[in-house]
Amino acid sequence: NRSDVHYFGAGPAPLPTPVLERAAQALLNYKDKGLGLCEISHRSPDANEILADAKQALTALLDIPDDYEILFLQSGGSGEFSATVYNLVSIWVEKKRAKIAQEVGDDKDELLKRLKMVVDEELKLDYLVTGSWSLKASQEAARLVGAQHVNVAADARKANDGKFGKIAPESDWSLTPRASGGPAFVYFCDNETVDGVEFPAFPASLEGDDAPLVCADMSSNFISRKVDVRKYAVIFGGAQKNIGNTGIAIVILRKSLLPPVSNSCSPDLLRALNLPVGPIVLDYPTIAKNNSLYNTLPIFDVWIAGQVMSGLVSAYGAKKIGGQEAISNEKAKMIYDTLEKYSDVYRVVPDKTVRSRMNICFRVHGGDAEKEKAFLSGAEKKGLLGLKGHRSVGGIRASNYNAVSIEGAKALVAYLEDYAKAA
Ligand code: PMP
Repeated sequence: NRSDVHYFGAGPAPLPTPVLERAAQALLNYKDKGLGLCEISHRSPDANEILADAKQALTALLDIPDDYEILFLQSGGSGEFSATVYNLVSIWVEKKRAKIAQEVGDDKDELLKRLKMVVDEELKLDYLVTGSWSLKASQEAARLVGAQHVNVAADARKANDGKFGKIAPESDWSLTPRASGGPAFVYFCDNETVDGVEFPAFPASLEGDDAPLVCADMSSNFISRKVDVRKYAVIFGGAQKNIGNTGIAIVILRKSLLPPVSNSCSPDLLRALNLPVGPIVLDYPTIAKNNSLYNTLPIFDVWIAGQVMSGLVSAYGAKKIGGQEAISNEKAKMIYDTLEKYSDVYRVVPDKTVRSRMNICFRVHGGDAEKEKAFLSGAEKKGLLGLKGHRSVGGIRASNYNAVSIEGAKALVAYLEDYAKAA
């Protein structure tokens, strides 16, 4: 029974039971129409309402300003690794083209020659690699545009024995200098799900009047704390951790990155420059122009996300996401405090300054495989599920997403106590 277990899976993750109960009904017979939510047209008035409600709830929770657009795509988080590159590189190239065109007029050969030089010399995408997801994103960027255009401005493994778990001080980052035009964008992953590393705050070196475009992956800490949306050009995340079920990604995009303010480069010119032309389903201007309905959007998934987010709006009212943030922090503190209390048995993997509130990664008995197995099977017997660390790093990971209740966190704490005392 659902009420017998607490689930700490990293994604897909638990969803609020009342939402799932309503979903079960909505799948069969939505609003008493005799049809279920997976059967209605994505262009129907009902679908439009679902889309509008989900956007409204997210806007209310995160205080999203009017000059930002919300997009829903089927890309998953990984699809956005590619989408950010396609879209922002295309805009960058178009800006350069327009500038050179002013100087060379109709001379197409000269324009292409100069643009090629500019791309060769100046196109840089800055990545802060702080865990395995930002690493993957940087690898995708290199696959798409060539490694010569990807500047890994920080690699957290360097100062940490080749492992993730720290974020180097900003003074050690090698961002593409703003004086020389800056990068096309700076990318980071706000919360690294596998490594349990979360940025404690927005990096100061990415602020200022001439700040670069900033893209952040918030897949695993979306709607878990306040975010100053204006600091970002693009925020994205897959829904399947804090927001909903697998199937959609949500993108919050600065409107000035869309036409008429920013235009994409023509596919022909991108090809001539040996730069990639992205698939139309990842093209932000196309998705925005069509209110996320360029192609068939899984409306059921949007409905679930909307229900989860509206639930938080109702629960916390004027506190907005701050209400959820306080609870997330409380649960995380409870668990970390217990791990620290028994430091002879448990070891938190990441550095204290960057520990994730969402994915709590630790080792038991120094990572002894047999003992960790026993720890996990003991947990399962108590109904504490999904605690196994990611296969690439092993160990234990307790994911503390929004749908994990205070009772769930307390049950985990009680088990941690019992296990440590018996050890
Ligand atoms: N980014 C982060 C931070 C993630 O945790 C994940 C998935 N766990 C992804 C991206 C990839 O998402 P998807 O599986 O939806 O492509």
